[in-house]
Amino acid sequence: MLVSAKEMLAKARDGKYAVGQFNINNLEWTKSVLLTAEELKSPVILGVSEGAGKYMTGFKTVAAMVKAMIEELGITVPVALHLDHGSYEGCYKCIEAGFSSIMFDGSHYPIDENVAKTQELVKICEEKGLSLEAEVGSIGGEEDGVVGLGECADPAECKMVADLGVTMLAAGIGNIHGKYPENWPGLRFDVLEAIKKEVGDMPLVLHGGTGIPEDMIKKAISLGVAKINVNTECQLSFAEATRKYIEAGKDLEGKGFDPRKLLAPGAEAIKQTVKEKMELFGSVGKA
Ligand SMILES: [Zn+2]
Repeated sequence: MLVSAKEMLAKARDGKYAVGQFNINNLEWTKSVLLTAEELKSPVILGVSEGAGKYMTGFKTVAAMVKAMIEELGITVPVALHLDHGSYEGCYKCIEAGFSSIMFDGSHYPIDENVAKTQELVKICEEKGLSLEAEVGSIGGEEDGVVGLGECADPAECKMVADLGVTMLAAGIGNIHGKYPENWPGLRFDVLEAIKKEVGDMPLVLHGGTGIPEDMIKKAISLGVAKINVNTECQLSFAEATRKYIEAGKDLEGKGFDPRKLLAPGAEAIKQTVKEKMELFGSVGKA
């Protein structure tokens, strides 16, 4: 069922595990993530970036597809449909389209403007029963053409935004979108601890979940991270499986060119990645 992320994240915070946000790009992606969540009885968050929303022809298409797919596949675990790194305007579009959760990324605004815009959205999300994620301190790397330097969030600013009544808070702690460089120094747990001290009960969000070593993921969860975003890793798995299929010439055998066959190995690979992440995050059996 489609729900806001509020309750599933409160449970995760209290139970010391994290709910995975897996970004979707098309029907196959969505189907793979939903089927795996149901199989493992795990709550799940489907992430949609503005770019992916545009690619899928618009947020209304995405919301309609996800709602129908939950029904047609008989998905019983809690599913949140979440706008990832939304602009102010994008947030309104997703609220209107029927998303159950949104992220307003105001990290590139001066803190006063980030606070003012977040405050507006808190009011609307409360009225409509949506969960709202805010961001302080930009996440490193590139996402949909926006390049962040990966600065660490200021704990005092985190408190200011958390106090507005958002559901969850993404705070930069040295994490990066995409693949991590060889010389990446790792997550800043000192910063995470300082933020946690300021924001208390607020579930924290770790972006850039691809390639963070397992022990760091587990430590981050123990320090208050209740939502972890995974995007690049599913893309890499999908691409690798698809490449193998084509390089082995399988598309030239029989009816191997049938899109349902051609895309099947990639879809299976996404399932495997999602399964591994849910096991690592500890959300299996928590639906
Ligand atoms: Zn992100």
